[in-house]
Amino acid sequence: MSAQLPLIDSFGRLHNNLRISVTDRCNIRCFYCMPAEDVQFMDKSELLTFEEIERFVRVAVPMGIDKLRLTGGEPLVRRELNTLVAKLASIPGVKDIGLTTNGIMLAQQAQGLYDAGLRRINVSLDALTPEKFKKFTRRDGFEQVIEGIRAAQRAGFDPVKINAVSVRGMTEDEIVPFGHFARETGVEVRFIEYMPLDADNAWERGKVLFAHEIIETLSSSIMPLRPIEEESASGHGGPATEFEFDDGVGRIGFIASVSQPFCMSCNRIRITADGKLRNCLFSMEETDVRSLLRGQAPDDQIANAIRSSVAAKKEGHEINTARFIQPERPMYSIGG
Ligand code: SAM
Ligand code: SF4
Repeated sequence: MSAQLPLIDSFGRLHNNLRISVTDRCNIRCFYCMPAEDVQFMDKSELLTFEEIERFVRVAVPMGIDKLRLTGGEPLVRRELNTLVAKLASIPGVKDIGLTTNGIMLAQQAQGLYDAGLRRINVSLDALTPEKFKKFTRRDGFEQVIEGIRAAQRAGFDPVKINAVSVRGMTEDEIVPFGHFARETGVEVRFIEYMPLDADNAWERGKVLFAHEIIETLSSSIMPLRPIEEESASGHGGPATEFEFDDGVGRIGFIASVSQPFCMSCNRIRITADGKLRNCLFSMEETDVRSLLRGQAPDDQIANAIRSSVAAKKEGHEINTARFIQPERPMYSIGG
């Protein structure tokens, strides 16, 4: 099989987007992702080295992968992440590198990451008070995250986006403050419906606060939201649907994975920190790429592994059916 053919699956979806998890470790313990205590982290020897990640990306790019996002665990706890960014930014054909971070260590690293070639940052922040922040994350750190967001803006990242997981019984009081925050700071706030990927297996559909409910609250409490047309949207929304307030000030996005699954437009593959290729967040199978990378496999063999994984991609997740089975790996171990 040619390594140059685009990555199209059996449902006609073209894949150009690779999410790379660089660690499963994290400095906080969000309840929707990690267990509270006794987390079993991967051994350091299991993690792909920066050189292994770079080689994998060099094989994937001629197959049409041109958008990368670094994630984890918390990617900023991996030492010298800026050197990985620089390696990836130097690969011809890579058009876009993003990072998703909890922001705790961002103030110290924002400028170095920008200088290395990173251009887009999503900071995860579920609440706008320290007390509520702690309820989500089981740790302190709210002020550090706010400082991280400011540092990212100062370093030149544009746009900076916030990811807020929307959880019934917790997020309701945050909606209007986030609406004002988006209007005052220019940061786009994106609400992500809580998905069944928590280590505690406590997810229930009834615990998801749906996108349409948030739209109603913002529209009645601040002012109506209007959808941003594709041409004027950033083009980087991915699965997010983007809105702005009627006066054009303040952007709000929604990733409605539960209430409005977007599987039919999914263009993503993922590699875990221990080198397992996954064609879906919810997939039950993965392909061991690390053993190929460490076993001197030629590029063709790695390319074939990527192609086979994409070919085997299922039509979509089945969260809304009785058939749904939660994957064994929670979010922090897959790489969100
Ligand atoms: N530690 C980084 C962070 O939190 O931004 C990167 C990894 S985290 C797994 C990536 C994203 O997944 C975050 O925005 C987080 O809020 C989101 N996430 C984690 N668990 C989730 C869940 N069960 N449902 C929806 N989003 C989730
Ligand atoms: Fe850590 Fe991110 Fe998971 Fe929160 S969502 S526990 S910050 S990996």
